[in-house]
Amino acid sequence: MKTAQEYIDSMRKMRFELYMFGEQVADHVDNPLIRPAMNCVAATYELAEETRFPQYRELMTATSHLTGKKINRFCHIHQSVDDLVKKSRMGRVLGAHTGSCFQRCVGMDALNALSMVTYDIDVKHGTGYNERFLKYLRYVQDEDLVCDGAMTDAKGDRSLRPSQQADPDLYLHVVEEKPDGIVVRGNKMHQTGAVNAHEIICMPTRAMLEDDQDYAISFALPADTQGIVYIYGRQPGDTRKIDGPNLDTGNILYGGQECMVVFDDVFVPWERVFMYREYDFAGDLVEKFSSYHRQSYACKSGIGDVLIGASQLAAEYQGTSKASHIREKILDMIHLNETMMSCSLACAYEGHREASGTYLVDALRANVSKLNVTRFPYDIARLAQDIAGGLIATMPSEKDLKHPRIGKYIAKYLKGVEGVPVEDRIRVLRLVENLTMGSGAACYLAESMHGAGSPMAQRIMIGRQSDVERMKNSARRLCGIEP
Ligand code: SF4
Ligand code: FE
Repeated sequence: MKTAQEYIDSMRKMRFELYMFGEQVADHVDNPLIRPAMNCVAATYELAEETRFPQYRELMTATSHLTGKKINRFCHIHQSVDDLVKKSRMGRVLGAHTGSCFQRCVGMDALNALSMVTYDIDVKHGTGYNERFLKYLRYVQDEDLVCDGAMTDAKGDRSLRPSQQADPDLYLHVVEEKPDGIVVRGNKMHQTGAVNAHEIICMPTRAMLEDDQDYAISFALPADTQGIVYIYGRQPGDTRKIDGPNLDTGNILYGGQECMVVFDDVFVPWERVFMYREYDFAGDLVEKFSSYHRQSYACKSGIGDVLIGASQLAAEYQGTSKASHIREKILDMIHLNETMMSCSLACAYEGHREASGTYLVDALRANVSKLNVTRFPYDIARLAQDIAGGLIATMPSEKDLKHPRIGKYIAKYLKGVEGVPVEDRIRVLRLVENLTMGSGAACYLAESMHGAGSPMAQRIMIGRQSDVERMKNSARRLCGIEP
């Protein structure tokens, strides 16, 4: 396994075509706006370093079913319910460690979904995808790589299917077939951790019909393959990071990352293609990946831990922590946060073995879990802002605090309870600001809403997975209605 430092060194070798603020970024590893996001992925390596974090060995590592070697859990194919449960717990630990999206789950979820679907395609169509995929998986495990799992297409007019769009590139598709591979064109949106990844794994974004078969493709490429163009996404308050870690950034260590990724006629060799025109499996791959990724949102309970802790500290620093209404609000936050975590654990405990041997979470509970996540972080953030007070929206900058003429006013008038340095109060309020309306809110709120699919996608799946007939029968029996 790589150490965190080896991971960062490996990123230096990547040659991304990356743009930010209208300019090409040459040295992405040392870019102050990108580095906190890269540190976040590095934490997925760091916590797996047994000598430094022996307490996380069980959660952060697993035994490869291919080689029997110890690997990072993010490269693992779930072999049991216990693996699924550990995955949920790992997400919470890392969310609490970073207070951010640590970006590596999408690749893990893509690998697991493909381990099943390539097998199922082979059974039906007599293809050889699973063997190809397992060879690729072994490479990912041996090298301990970060994979970006890329699903969401641009989608153009949402009322039209991929093949019906006026511009055929609005969904990623094959434009040429060659003896040694295929050429693809299109785009993947909202790509979490894209330029912190070694590999990019593309999957279709929706169920497809026969006319859409050019779009029913899945493949993996080195993330810096020629023709892949990355355009860095903005987050609120992102430029506060440009001066390096400072009081105003709130989370001084970590951050998230999303990119728009363009495939400008990119060649994919056959050995990296895991689905090619099997449109009848596109929907299945989407559903399996989505179930896994909806489970992954245990990460938000970890970020919730940070926000609850910050709110409690803010109350203590301001002298309000003993007020009964503050105690109630903290309890409400804990209740919401633990409800999210409980659902993520429930879908893991109710998991089952698929034909390929991979364990899959229970789809109904995974979707209930994610639907909660589209709401509860907003409620928790509202309570955090309530407790923190209006200062989170009006506080002067670190430079003002350190200014020779006016710094003393800030130190005097922002002082809370005796014995707490004013800077500590500022720090914790900035963290609340970061998570509820700054760059951290992109991870904690908007991503909770739309990441792993928007709320309606979960509602549809909940409707499909629920057995209302069984419920009607229960009711009929108890009130004496003949079935
Ligand atoms: Fe992982 Fe959560 Fe980020 Fe998704 S939002 S990649 S589940 S940390
Ligand atoms: Fe996400």
